[in-house]
Amino acid sequence: MNGQEPLTALKGVGEKTARLFERLGVRTLEELWHYYPRAYDVFQEPRPICGLEPDTVAAVKARLKKTADVIRYGRMQVATLTLHEQEAGLSVVWYNMPYLRGILRAGEEFVFRGRVVKKRGRLTMEQPEIFRPQDYLEQIAVMRPVYGQTKGLGNKTIEKAVKQALSLRGMEKEYLPEPIRARLNLAEINFALEHIHFPRDEADLLFARRRLVFDEFFLFLLSIRFLKDQKEKTKSAYPIRLSPDITRLEQALPYELTGAQKRALSEVFADLSGGHVMNRLIQGDVGSGKTIVAVLALLQAASCGYQGALMVPTEVLARQHFEMIRRLTEEHGLGTRVILLTGSMTAKEKRLARAAIEAHEADLIVGTHALIQEAVRFDRLALVITDEQHRFGVGQRESLGKKGEAPHVLVMSATPIPRTLAIILYGDLDISVIDELPAGRRPVKNCVVGRGYRENAYRFIQKEVEAGRQAYVICPMVEAGEMLEAENVIDYAAALRKKFPPSIAVEFLHGRMKAKEKNAIMERFAAGEIQVLVSTTVIEVGINVPNATVMMIENAERYGLAQLHQLRGRVGRGADQSYCIMVNTGGEEAQKRLEILNRSNDGFFIASEDLRLRGPGDMFGVRQSGELEFGLADIFTDAAVLKTASEEVNALLAADPGLSREENAPLGRRLAQYLEKRYGRLAL
Ligand code: ADP
Ligand code: MG
Repeated sequence: MNGQEPLTALKGVGEKTARLFERLGVRTLEELWHYYPRAYDVFQEPRPICGLEPDTVAAVKARLKKTADVIRYGRMQVATLTLHEQEAGLSVVWYNMPYLRGILRAGEEFVFRGRVVKKRGRLTMEQPEIFRPQDYLEQIAVMRPVYGQTKGLGNKTIEKAVKQALSLRGMEKEYLPEPIRARLNLAEINFALEHIHFPRDEADLLFARRRLVFDEFFLFLLSIRFLKDQKEKTKSAYPIRLSPDITRLEQALPYELTGAQKRALSEVFADLSGGHVMNRLIQGDVGSGKTIVAVLALLQAASCGYQGALMVPTEVLARQHFEMIRRLTEEHGLGTRVILLTGSMTAKEKRLARAAIEAHEADLIVGTHALIQEAVRFDRLALVITDEQHRFGVGQRESLGKKGEAPHVLVMSATPIPRTLAIILYGDLDISVIDELPAGRRPVKNCVVGRGYRENAYRFIQKEVEAGRQAYVICPMVEAGEMLEAENVIDYAAALRKKFPPSIAVEFLHGRMKAKEKNAIMERFAAGEIQVLVSTTVIEVGINVPNATVMMIENAERYGLAQLHQLRGRVGRGADQSYCIMVNTGGEEAQKRLEILNRSNDGFFIASEDLRLRGPGDMFGVRQSGELEFGLADIFTDAAVLKTASEEVNALLAADPGLSREENAPLGRRLAQYLEKRYGRLAL
């Protein structure tokens, strides 16, 4: 097996199951090998019934006095058992499994393991797993993988499939040079892959994980070096000289650029006119004003007769940037032709847009991923910019760059990565940092509150709205589902409509809505026709509505701090005082983490404090970055491994730049595979 086989090569996996796996992004055996667990579950000794607590997972052992009852409620069949132990009682229920009557028979002994909840005042265990005592005892203290699941595809099925896939896997040849492995005490690759899924114990797991994390960084950094070497040699075919029009526009803006913006802009202009292809990252906290820097650079390119493209991760943001640029060019009579290209446009609209791009009837093109699709042909594309770059894979960012003939490339990111790490991770790019917020911004006022504060929050929102401002409310879920504890957008919006007078327009927004609907809602919110927008984190990215002054975040404990910081960045964008209300429905640990946000509005500080609190090697905390799409590695918690990997890459390439020595040949082959997979044929 080379790993490229479809999942249907596994016994017991048919077309239907394979399609469910596809939803998890797993199509081939190789992808399944690398579908790592989200967490691990450890079987504990069975507990006495009188010691059970609600909202925990526990196991109980019992000899049945009576065979299970199966009762019919409408179309549902419920199998129940009642277990007693002195005074304490526990109901155990299973839904639609009537055959249990034949298994759970009087006189037999079992272990039941499941979630204990309180229902109508009674302790109840719902849908527990059933074991023979001997089988259970053998598994005590074993760590069982818990995978990300999807409806219809449970953990057991995934676990079985992984086990089988691993057993079909031939031994892979170790590609990491032996001296590196020995020096850093890294696990062998086959061992690591097996034990990340099925570790014997925690030490074993950490050992396996460290190797895989190292690999992710190591291969990534090698590939970055490879790209960098390619880029450094490229002369630019598109010299972009400073035009007086753009200087005049800069002077005429309603505000003065901050020192940091001016610095970034002059670095960008120096690159654009310097004769070599620009590869630059602009890093700046939310609200630091990255957009205008990008727009000035694009207008510059257009004024020299070239095309420029701006790619953003969401339709809503694309539209907003598009409108903004169009307004700017019209107000200043620049005559720059701007068009929009997004996935939700009709086939005909797209066709017209593509034709206009190809015929150079458009100078600047703003769009989503639609920009990197095959059929789009540019004409003298000199500058490509990716906004909110952390929402794109490196591959996507590179693909846009490949659209023209070595255009200048600018990427923008708000992820607060400490400079030392940024230099490593973006080794193929030059970096400009915008580390200053526009003057006159009032810092957002924060509070972390419990459920009981909600009514106050609603009154506060109403007051702000009556003063002419707007509010966001963020919920983790789209609709009511299995996770009843978490708020959902649809019910929440309905409840707020009842709560507020009819003069306050409440609407909702979520990622499952059609792009057209999302756009319409967002436009109405931006135009002030909607006062309260209840949304999932789809609005997290880049949106700019300066009149919004309240950000209320429900179930705040469910988000990573960096993400909360991004959400909060949606307010505090205008001159009015803004507020961020985080509703913590978690425990004290969560409170401590959220307090960090409460104390600071500085993204870099937040990221480092979060790290300090969780400690490096905290594997199951909320992943922070989403950046650069590593499977296991987290640039914050694994920062030490990242540094080591970077040093090793430097040492290796210093000694053997082309990886041409015999002992490095397996690594060379592995790198070629990696590049192919990550960048397609583009890079090679
Ligand atoms: P981000 O860096 O998060 O992308 P934006 O570019 O969206 O931030 O800018 C946020 C807001 O700040 C926008 O309303 C923008 O017009 C405004 N802005 C940008 N630069 C300045 C400045 N120098 N002075 C005042 N306001 C500014
Ligand atoms: Mg932005």
